[in-house]
Amino acid sequence: MPGRLRAVELVHVRMPLVRPFATVHGVTRAKDSLLVRVVYDGVEGWGECAVETEPGYTGETLDGARVALREYLVPRVFAGRDLGNGRGNEFARSAFECALLDAQLHAAQVSLASHIGGVRDHVTAGVAIGLHDDIGALRALAAEYVAQGYTRLKLKIVPGRDIEPVAAVRDEVGPDVAIAVDANGSYSFEAAMQLAALDAFGLQCIEQPLSPDAFEAHALLAAGLVPPLCLDESITSAPLAELAISLGACGMVNVKPGRVGGIEAARAVHDACRIRAVPVLIGGMLETGIGRAVNIALASLPGFTETGDCSASDRYFADDLTEPFGLEGGTLAVPTGPGIGVVPRAEVLRAQTVRRERLRP
Ligand code: MG
Repeated sequence: MPGRLRAVELVHVRMPLVRPFATVHGVTRAKDSLLVRVVYDGVEGWGECAVETEPGYTGETLDGARVALREYLVPRVFAGRDLGNGRGNEFARSAFECALLDAQLHAAQVSLASHIGGVRDHVTAGVAIGLHDDIGALRALAAEYVAQGYTRLKLKIVPGRDIEPVAAVRDEVGPDVAIAVDANGSYSFEAAMQLAALDAFGLQCIEQPLSPDAFEAHALLAAGLVPPLCLDESITSAPLAELAISLGACGMVNVKPGRVGGIEAARAVHDACRIRAVPVLIGGMLETGIGRAVNIALASLPGFTETGDCSASDRYFADDLTEPFGLEGGTLAVPTGPGIGVVPRAEVLRAQTVRRERLRP
């Protein structure tokens, strides 16, 4: 893009979660994110790299993303080049692309949702629920979210902790709330076949039962299960979405801009699925308001016909980094301001900053 990148800041923030979030990869008690702030031709832009601090969901880490930005990606753009098409570092690339686009859209006074072709002013909110040892506590939490207006619950599962929690939550919330499960790739093929016992509970989808590379096995599994399989970790690009769909490995795709390398790449995955009539949903990485704004804007695209993981700010944080996103009748308003439509609040940013690096040309 024309113009000149004047300065970049990498701001590591640590945001306490209102409750711990447990998956097969471990328990998150505070969300670490690397914010990218750019000044482009005098205009500020923000992006969020919400990758985890340890390998698990992906091989990329927060520290790795910082090095990739500081040593490779930012110097390229300081030198007047584009981000390039080097492999890997998708979360880092996504955050930087977002910050540059945010500045560009601020200069043009255009919202992100308008820029990408969003068609909704509100998106339906969903909520992801971590692993719980205590089924009573799980039931109470599910009931609390439904009372708040959430119409879709996604339960994390692992082998041996699947049928009972799903049965309990279905019993608690009744038949009208959509329930999905997400295994984060923790099942063997044989163990995943046992998930046929979940058919009684009318699931929206079963997300990522097998390891990310297991495309053929997902196709075999899909043929034996009633709910559609939704792939998350497997789909790191539009061509892989096309491959998975052509193999019959999924009937739904979870899209996260960080996982696929940015907003443009996320839209490409959306487009690939849409022309093949495969619905997509927006996932989440426990983002602050910066990343949440991007996810909600993406969810306004026409192919996002399934409710995903976009939640209100208070599901995660007592005090979000940006003005908080609140539920409006079970929906979230798509930001309408220029760019991503939100900025960090100075006092929250100051209080939650762990480390700040300023990069210059
Ligand atoms: Mg997932």
